[in-house]
Amino acid sequence: MTLSRGSHYLAIPGPSVMPDEVLRAMHRPAPNIYTGELHDIVDTIIPDLKRVAGTQHDVAIYICNGHGAWEAALTNVFRRGDKVLALATGTFTHGWADKAEQLGIAPVRLDFGRRDAIDLARVEAVLTEDAGHEIKALLCVQVDTASSVKNDIKGVRAVLDRVGHPALLMVDCIACLGVDEFHMDDWGVDVMVTGSQKGLMTPPGLGFVYFSPKADAARDRADLVTGYWDWRPRVNAEAFYQYFCGTAPTHHLYGLRVALDLMLDEGMEKIWERHAALAKAVWAAFDAWGAGGPLELNIADPAMRSNAVTAVRAGRENGTRLRDWVSAHAGVTLGIGLGMGTDEDPASDGFFRVGHMGHVNAQMVMGALGAIDIGLKAVKIPHGPGALEAASTVLSRA
Ligand SMILES: *Cc1c(COP(=O)(O)O)cnc(C)c1O
Repeated sequence: MTLSRGSHYLAIPGPSVMPDEVLRAMHRPAPNIYTGELHDIVDTIIPDLKRVAGTQHDVAIYICNGHGAWEAALTNVFRRGDKVLALATGTFTHGWADKAEQLGIAPVRLDFGRRDAIDLARVEAVLTEDAGHEIKALLCVQVDTASSVKNDIKGVRAVLDRVGHPALLMVDCIACLGVDEFHMDDWGVDVMVTGSQKGLMTPPGLGFVYFSPKADAARDRADLVTGYWDWRPRVNAEAFYQYFCGTAPTHHLYGLRVALDLMLDEGMEKIWERHAALAKAVWAAFDAWGAGGPLELNIADPAMRSNAVTAVRAGRENGTRLRDWVSAHAGVTLGIGLGMGTDEDPASDGFFRVGHMGHVNAQMVMGALGAIDIGLKAVKIPHGPGALEAASTVLSRA
């Protein structure tokens, strides 16, 4: 006997659930890439991509995943040997800094650990020290998908302004664009990278690099940029093929068009509110379970938690045991504890994550929490009572 037949729910932090409308939009024969509907779609996608990011600046679209967007952003603004300050929270800023290092850029890492957000005072101290403005840019994530921490990007901009430091502010919003509140222009972000497969509810395969005029000016002195990654022809395309430096990602564009329609129909403010309510329900459940056992939210302060993903410390091996059971028997796949292992527990098997980004509603979140509740009992992980009650109370008040 199995309880896992029926619709399987992939509750990992990306790729996220794709709406049926997005899937249907992609189910079509190959379109003409030389003229017609596809060209019209790109003309409308670009302004809508800017709208969801709160920007009037440019956005270049690449056929790549988030790692490609990282590299695109780096190559367009840096010279070999440039010094950048990586504000590392959790795992992903390190990944971006590693990419920089491989390109011959010199990242200096300020590490804030696996359970904390960027400490603005430490950033201010380092920038103040850098009187000669050797640091060309700050690299950071708005949300670290491994630790589930959310950083105060507006606060980082305020520090740069207070110190009067000209470094570019470069932000990875791959996990959280269209989930957590973000305003590129109001927050003074110079470069923002994101991808299609998380808040944007489209398959992995599109990377987006947004950049300000100041970042574009840095492009003039950059010596790392190559023809394929160059963002200039992509935003000033004189011929359609230049948008993508070759064949357009046809079906992704059809899917993305519909995903953007869904988002703009709902409205950005409402999207952020929905995710906030769903995330609060998840946290309430974990607080209740944690009161009687080892489960603990990785980020203690709710103000530092993302609404896109929740990382959980479950106690040695418990993360993997629970994930395996829930996937095999209850029809829900939970996220692995990515990069969260410690020296004593390198395999990360004492951690798991719940993705709640994009096309997610109350019944999906309650279903995932219900499956976790069953799993905790089935694999005998001690836990407190009342988690589902706590979550449903949160949602009933939203
Ligand atoms: C998912 C993610 C990435 C990596 O994206 P890929 O598409 O897997 O290359 C980078 N940064 C953050 C914050 C992410 O959530």
